[in-house]
Amino acid sequence: MKALVKKEAAPGLWLAEVPEPEIGINDVLIRVKRTAICGTDMHIYNWDNWAQKTIPTPMVVGHEFVGEIVAIGSNVNDFHPGQLVSGEGHVVCGRCRNCLAGRRHLCAHTSGIGVNRPGAFAEYVVLPMSNVWEHRSGVDLDVAALFDPFGNAVHTALQYDLLGEDVLITGAGPIGVMAAAVCRHAGARHVVVTDLNPSRLALASRLGATRTVDVRHENLADVQRELGLSEGFDVGLEMSGSPAAFRAMLANLCHGGQVAMLGIPTEEMAIDWTTVIFNMLTIKGIYGREMYETWYKMSVMIESGLDISPVITHRLPYHEFQQGFDAMLAGDACKVVLNWE
Ligand code: NAD
Ligand code: ZN
Repeated sequence: MKALVKKEAAPGLWLAEVPEPEIGINDVLIRVKRTAICGTDMHIYNWDNWAQKTIPTPMVVGHEFVGEIVAIGSNVNDFHPGQLVSGEGHVVCGRCRNCLAGRRHLCAHTSGIGVNRPGAFAEYVVLPMSNVWEHRSGVDLDVAALFDPFGNAVHTALQYDLLGEDVLITGAGPIGVMAAAVCRHAGARHVVVTDLNPSRLALASRLGATRTVDVRHENLADVQRELGLSEGFDVGLEMSGSPAAFRAMLANLCHGGQVAMLGIPTEEMAIDWTTVIFNMLTIKGIYGREMYETWYKMSVMIESGLDISPVITHRLPYHEFQQGFDAMLAGDACKVVLNWE
């Protein structure tokens, strides 16, 4: 089959012919229809320090996908060929304390598809049945391909009560702008999104941000005054990984404000802890998606009219993948969807 492979320890990806994956008794075989490019794939493409330490070569990459089940292992009863599915890319151990308690997103023995095991940028991918999510009928295929990063947005945004609350989102990357859409859908009042890239801020507005802030030209204290928020934002969603953005967030929350932190800082970051203490702020780290409460929420929100499709800026056939990666590198793209049909 055709697949996008990190063939050797060097920048780039190669479209190659590789053997079809074999299925075990607990697995399903999925014929891939659409995939989407994630920041993680860019790290692997660029072959940065993290990728060099993490990715064995050769490796079929990619983890954001939708496809159709074409075969099932002999132990599999709950799935059958013909079903339209995406996959939870975190394969967990199933035996540790957290897994046994149903907190599978907290498994300390997680392996990632397209990172530690063969991925989805391919004609076929194999997953354990415990990692398969069936889509509701009528879901748009390109949107279905985004359930992994959409899940990061949903998992983060739904940490705290949003109804009537004022939300600050730092970072208008794909996850930040999808989170803006979720916050509006869930009934937030103000959804303020910051970035320093005007095209990304424009996208945030399309997806539901009520006010965007280019932090190169405006500061959050002025925006708060303009909006009449005398006490600060109630909820902060950190989705940039930027220390400056995180510090600005902490300085603009109300007393008792709550932060969910998804963005991954590239190095240690200092903050003013006295703000956290005197203002009694809550800061919670967020990883991946809850299996499968986040997936359930995603499916029902899409079913009830949430539209995240504007986040897709590029749609390409898989053999034009280079164009998609180039657009990501140039910073013009938000989500790039590759068609494998
Ligand atoms: P992205 O890099 O596309 O988006 C980050 C955005 O932050 C960019 O648009 C950038 O311009 C903006 N930004 C940079 N400095 C800023 C500043 N000072 N103020 C405001 N905005 C600023 O990333 P993404 O794919 O949307 O992912 C968001 C973050 O979440 C990334 O840090 C990513 O590594 C992380 N992530 C975490 C998990 C997890 O499980 N915790 C999963 C996926 C992604
Ligand atoms: Zn586990």
